[in-house]
Amino acid sequence: MKRKIFNPTRNEKKRMVVRAVAEFLQPYRSLYGYRHEFVTNAYRNLLPETEYADPSLMHELQLLRLKKILRIAETIPWWRDRLEGAGIQRESLTALSVLERLPPVSKQSFTNTSRAELLAPAFKDRERLVLFRTSGTTGAPFEWGGDRNTSFVESASYFHRILVWHGISPKRDGRRPFIASFTGPTTAQPSVACNWSPVETNADQAFQNLLDQITTGRYRVLYIYPTNLLLFAKKLAESRQKLPFQLVVAGGQRLDDDSREYAEKVLGCPVVATYGSTEVGQIAIECPKLRHHYHVHAERLFLEITDEQGRRLPDGEEGLITLTSLENRALPLLRYHIGDRGRIVPEKCPCGRTLPLLAFSGKQMDFIRFPSGKIAPFRQINRFLLPLFFDEIEFYQIMQPTLGQLVIRVKLRHGDKQSFESRFSNELYKHIGTELSIIFEYPALWGAGSEGKMRMFVPLL
Ligand SMILES: [Zn+2]
Repeated sequence: MKRKIFNPTRNEKKRMVVRAVAEFLQPYRSLYGYRHEFVTNAYRNLLPETEYADPSLMHELQLLRLKKILRIAETIPWWRDRLEGAGIQRESLTALSVLERLPPVSKQSFTNTSRAELLAPAFKDRERLVLFRTSGTTGAPFEWGGDRNTSFVESASYFHRILVWHGISPKRDGRRPFIASFTGPTTAQPSVACNWSPVETNADQAFQNLLDQITTGRYRVLYIYPTNLLLFAKKLAESRQKLPFQLVVAGGQRLDDDSREYAEKVLGCPVVATYGSTEVGQIAIECPKLRHHYHVHAERLFLEITDEQGRRLPDGEEGLITLTSLENRALPLLRYHIGDRGRIVPEKCPCGRTLPLLAFSGKQMDFIRFPSGKIAPFRQINRFLLPLFFDEIEFYQIMQPTLGQLVIRVKLRHGDKQSFESRFSNELYKHIGTELSIIFEYPALWGAGSEGKMRMFVPLL
């Protein structure tokens, strides 16, 4: 059904919805009680309205919410100084573009600042703060936080959005424990439903228990990290069993086409990619009609494409993804360089949604670096390596601990280490030249990040 976007009466209705969303997205107390369901339902009814709204209405919504966030940021000296330095006054904020004056921040901006200095006063003496910790495997653990009372509602709502977009009823399936999460080995945090890794002790038995659990619980949606998806699909193909999944949501890392196609074949359902991060939460969901294009959750985030200095680039031009949270009242985050590159697609999306459409140009970090200054995208190299060694390797991870070196960590399924090493190095050298030395490791224990995801490539920092 094609929706009329520019009908004035319809726009009036949408304007009301926009106001309602702006008001609803407030911190609520006791959201784990009855009000949690109320707010979640409200989101469920409102979000389908905002995602088809005229972009000018979305800007209005974003501006309303930004002002609220700035009111909080002004109470935090660290941010107040930056805002004053940029000459940004909340009262006179008439357009989102004014924010462009504020210099961007990155993870490094906070290295010498304690969390207490960044925390909104209202969260200082309350138990309302929930901490988000991001991966230690990249070598740079990072901690951020949000409002305990709203973070659950926010994530639940955006998970609902994915279900709705793929024709799955959140009413029927969203309220059951629909998240089956398969995390990497030796995860620090317990996952919602189950853990499985091919390198754990009794991996086969543990896998069978997991399949039984999924079948008995009739899980319909699988949330999984892309690296684990490939492992899981391979194992499932071997077992020749069928699972009841209707949708696989892969987030956390970039999903490569080969892994996705393979998993779709084995699992018999679509695999959809999401884009998010620990510090800002859900950012965007892949459009159901346009692969590799992501609709931004513009209700909760203001996304700009900028250069290093924070100057905004025109739509269609590739640059740094810069995010402003319109939601985080505990630890405001304004104009944050998340470390990814992309561009806003100016064309209208065939699905009819008016949420900004984002296309990626590769994670900034996911490059192999060479002493000569050259860089090579890991994923492109992996595309060649993966099919060649697919049957031989149970799991592998490539790390670049120093500029002159790559460490290949492997768990071989079978075969001779020496022969594998020489063939693997040969193939790798074909693509990256011989500038880097290659070292093989066969760890007995595999470390995962604190959020339980295992990275296939750990770049040089
Ligand atoms: Zn779309």
